[in-house]
Amino acid sequence: MQFVRYTNGSNAQWGVCQDDTIVPVAGLREEVSYQQLTDSGFLRLVENAVKAAGSNSVAVDETRILTPVPRPGKIVCVGLNYHDHATEQDEDVPERPLLFGKASTSVTNPRDPIVHPADLEQVDYEVELGVVIGRTAKDVSASDARDYVAGYTAINDVSGRDAQFVDEQFYRGKSYDTFAPMGPSLVPDEYLEPDSLDVACRVNGETKQSSNTSEFIFAVDELIEYISGITTLRPGDVISTGTPGGVGIFRDPPELLEPGDTVDVEIEGIGTLRNPVVAESDPGV
Ligand code: MG
Repeated sequence: MQFVRYTNGSNAQWGVCQDDTIVPVAGLREEVSYQQLTDSGFLRLVENAVKAAGSNSVAVDETRILTPVPRPGKIVCVGLNYHDHATEQDEDVPERPLLFGKASTSVTNPRDPIVHPADLEQVDYEVELGVVIGRTAKDVSASDARDYVAGYTAINDVSGRDAQFVDEQFYRGKSYDTFAPMGPSLVPDEYLEPDSLDVACRVNGETKQSSNTSEFIFAVDELIEYISGITTLRPGDVISTGTPGGVGIFRDPPELLEPGDTVDVEIEGIGTLRNPVVAESDPGV
């Protein structure tokens, strides 16, 4: 079941996306509780509401899909979490997850532009599975970790490589406004198996990354155990679980994003997150 946050001209609202239509979900408003998505009783109510919706649905084409997590409390990113991405960098498999932060204000909607900053030359794409937290989690064991997950979404962890490499830390290069497209749907944990999903990234229709989350070095439950042992995770926080091989900077020669490009990030069961790339100086941005 794919929850989507959308607008058809008025306030943002929540619905369930089925094929080309969205069934509005009464009671789930802008202030959606991510905790509700961890509650199977609530999910049964939504399932029944969707079945009973009849003609009470809207065509996806008549709406604007918004990111399901417009204001995450924090975005905790994991570097080097796919075996194939470690291989392309000649890096050893890490003993523990490599964590870094990405500003929560970098989130942007599906279809909205990724703004290529004038002061960067190496802007790169990274398809990542996003884990949205649904319940406050501190010192959670891996065996209990999934109980704390609201659901899963797709993230493009857009990365300014020149900033990342010059600074020798990740925050600036990862945090420019619009560098975290997120969406198009949020699929509750009970409907998705996060450690066996096909993931892909295409630039202008050409496949650049293609892998499966079974390549994870650290699975979602292990990441939640590790991160919640360090910092309290709260509802609406996001873990971005790392990217597979095929990123632009490690291609020979490098293939980086330029204004005019279109990037598709696709995750099985979640959908395709599409964003155009525009120059910072483009009018209207
Ligand atoms: Mg990343």
